[in-house]
Amino acid sequence: MPLLHAEHISKTYPNGTQALKGIDIEVEQGEFLVVIGLSGSGKSTLLRCINQLHTVSSGRIVFDDAEITALKGRRLRQARSRIGMIFQQFNLIPRKTVLTNVLSGALARTPVIKSLLGMYSAEDKQKALAYLDIVGLAQKAYVRADNLSGGQQQRVAIARALMQDPKILLADEPVASLDPSTSHSVMKYLQKINQELGVTVICNLHFLSLVRTYATRVIALKEGQLVYQGAPSDIDEQW
Ligand code: ADP
Ligand code: ADP
Repeated sequence: MPLLHAEHISKTYPNGTQALKGIDIEVEQGEFLVVIGLSGSGKSTLLRCINQLHTVSSGRIVFDDAEITALKGRRLRQARSRIGMIFQQFNLIPRKTVLTNVLSGALARTPVIKSLLGMYSAEDKQKALAYLDIVGLAQKAYVRADNLSGGQQQRVAIARALMQDPKILLADEPVASLDPSTSHSVMKYLQKINQELGVTVICNLHFLSLVRTYATRVIALKEGQLVYQGAPSDIDEQW
């Protein structure tokens, strides 16, 4: 059983744009899958359908033995809580500390009234500090988020996503706004959580150089269709 199985999924937006046209993908536990393709090819839509930020127009998605495209309410929230996501924009709360930002990733488990009051369990706090250590930011826990560099903010976003104990982490162009050396640093932390914590990663990228270094497998989208899948080392011959 693959961890994730998208079966013939299509997505047409309300304005008529056909962003995905019958995509089939299987992702095994432990993979670091990179999705490449030109801007507008459907990469972001694919990730948003996987975590149910968008509903698919047809097809189905099975994640962790549950057909998430058929779930509703509490069961959907439960399934989604094991799917972490990070974006090109880091989406941190700028005037809050790094630690508070990471703790906000535990919201799925924390009763709303407690989270509004900033009341987190000692266990969650320990966990947040441990994840900050994993992304190399233990010393920044009490610094305001907007004092960090872009690469550091993305690492905070990774730690925040880890608070959900995700089985899979979806990264939508996580380094698109970062310079090359900072990009490598962020990618190395994604690789670390993939290899050391066993979190499966699906990452949208548009730099082929990064693909060869970090992917265990690559798929390419073109105009909403899957046009290639294979080993990162074969990329040069194909593109
Ligand atoms: P990529 O991530 O590869 O750049 P997207 O998934 O963002 O591609 O976009 C795929 C296509 O869907 C594009 O034509 C884009 O303009 C369109 N699209 C994306 N989001 C929406 C939306 N919310 N409403 C309508 N069209 C959208
Ligand atoms: P990014 O560069 O982060 O992929 P975009 O500028 O493509 O962001 O899109 C920003 C937002 O607008 C996204 O939520 C996307 O789904 C939506 N969007 C993108 N293209 C369209 C479109 N053609 N029509 C409506 N919404 C769109």
